[in-house]
Amino acid sequence: MSETPVGLELSELAKRLQSGTLSDTTSQRATEATPDLAILPWANVIKIGGQSIMDRGRKAVRPVVDEIVANLPKHKMILGTGAGTRARHVYSLAIDLGLPVGVLTVLGTAVAWQNAQMLQYLLAAHGIAFLEPEGFPSLAHYLMERGAVICQGMPPYKLWEQNPEIGRIPPQRTDTGCFLMAEVLGARKMIYVKDEDGLFTADPKKDAHATHIPRISVQDLLQRDFDDLIVERAVLQLMLNARNLKEIQFVNGLKPGQLSAALDGRPVGTIIFNATRGGAA
Ligand code: ADP
Ligand code: MG
Repeated sequence: MSETPVGLELSELAKRLQSGTLSDTTSQRATEATPDLAILPWANVIKIGGQSIMDRGRKAVRPVVDEIVANLPKHKMILGTGAGTRARHVYSLAIDLGLPVGVLTVLGTAVAWQNAQMLQYLLAAHGIAFLEPEGFPSLAHYLMERGAVICQGMPPYKLWEQNPEIGRIPPQRTDTGCFLMAEVLGARKMIYVKDEDGLFTADPKKDAHATHIPRISVQDLLQRDFDDLIVERAVLQLMLNARNLKEIQFVNGLKPGQLSAALDGRPVGTIIFNATRGGAA
């Protein structure tokens, strides 16, 4: 049996972290070289759009639900919901009433929660559970047992949400919450299911000349500085520092088969990849 007193085996990194401040840049840099564990490398995080899918009702939602069910035997899925039109309504009211960003975030979270509830009842017959963040320690178990779980997509910042650079719309909404979940879990894929074939040079609903972009690096996209995007800008910033997720994919949920193709690893829709952290060019 080893007689080594506790602490003697401490690595240089551990000694440095324990003796100094955590703000010391040398210590911060020293942690860079250690790899992150991919906790659920076989799980796919899928965001079901709020305005783009849920708000379109039965015609859009039922085929997506059917496609999710068809994929249950093949792919493990964490299904996060967007908020959508009802959140836009409550944001406009709250802004008019002078309420701060943190309060808007609480309100938007409640709408994403409603959508998660509806999705859960639609999938209840397949034994799919709805989990709040407090229930996430059981997430792996539910995924193993039933193949999917549902959660609402907002990150749980609520009153603690930071102000955006400009204006008063919560900057980190459901695209961001789903992305952060995929990153921390080391998920296999982050797929956004919306109502367009992916990213275009402009919003295709407003600009008939917008052209489709099948693949682009996040660095290139940030530099092109489009007026509007299919994804929250916060996600692009977070991608730059992501340690697990190298790319995100956007598919059209109104076209049956696109979600399945993305789950199967095919390059449908748009892929935004990180050119500096190992994303394949
Ligand atoms: P969600 O329903 O997931 O919240 P959003 O409505 O926030 O999705 O974003 C998806 C919408 O973004 C699409 O319906 C599309 O009209 C719009 N959009 C804006 N700019 C672009 C762009 N450059 N490329 C593609 N879609 C865009
Ligand atoms: Mg949105």
